[in-house]
Amino acid sequence: MTESRVLAKAVEEGRQFLNEVESKQVLRDAGIDTTEAYLVGSLEEALKQAGKIGFPVVLKVISAQIVHKSDIGGVKLGLKTQEEVAAAYDEIIAAVKAKEPSATIDGVSVQGMARSGTEVIMGMSKDPQFGPVLMFGLGGILVEVLKDVSFRIVPLTRRDAREMIHEIKGYPILEGYRGQEPASVEKLEDTLLKLSEFVEAHQEIKEIDLNPIFAYQDGLTAVDARIILEEKTG
Ligand code: ADP
Ligand code: MG
Repeated sequence: MTESRVLAKAVEEGRQFLNEVESKQVLRDAGIDTTEAYLVGSLEEALKQAGKIGFPVVLKVISAQIVHKSDIGGVKLGLKTQEEVAAAYDEIIAAVKAKEPSATIDGVSVQGMARSGTEVIMGMSKDPQFGPVLMFGLGGILVEVLKDVSFRIVPLTRRDAREMIHEIKGYPILEGYRGQEPASVEKLEDTLLKLSEFVEAHQEIKEIDLNPIFAYQDGLTAVDARIILEEKTG
């Protein structure tokens, strides 16, 4: 299904969210790089999919009620063999049943393990006065504790995107810190601009959360994504 179909179908069905698999598909169709995640409904399917993708892989729970998947043991990283995939699959289902017994499990996502990079986040939320606003920041502890983020109103110009990236306090980290790989600021700018275009074209979207994106010297990939839809009226 193309971008418009996945989105349009979810809107028609009066749904509130796109899951990780759907959100990533929609974003990739909009030109934003993400790891490709596949939804499976059984261990057999998970093993088959892992074989197709190639090891190591990542498994995650897919449930509309679970927003913070890793908090409840719903994310298993770096699975190197069929045996590890099988154990992780069972552990995820058991963890969800123990910690979120009321959650409906829609399936499990299988994706390749991305090489680690500088973690950044991008998001969109709607301001009652200004409408859609994009957010950029460093991922992990820096964004949670220090709230080191920047905002611009949609639509973004290239200059807006550039300023958003440069004005965060953690900017030197993106330039490469103590021998760490620098992040391509140009790719980050391109991604913010694509996100801005995408948001402008889709007013039915209420919120977008790309957390985290792994930024590299030569590109980036969003490893987690979530799209929230406006409530259907009429
Ligand atoms: P949640 O935010 O719901 O807890 P995520 O999908 O963000 O779950 O996964 C938790 C963490 O696992 C991420 O912050 C990232 O560090 C790591 N991660 C997730 N997906 C991948 C992947 N495909 N490759 C490498 N690391 C990943
Ligand atoms: Mg996440």
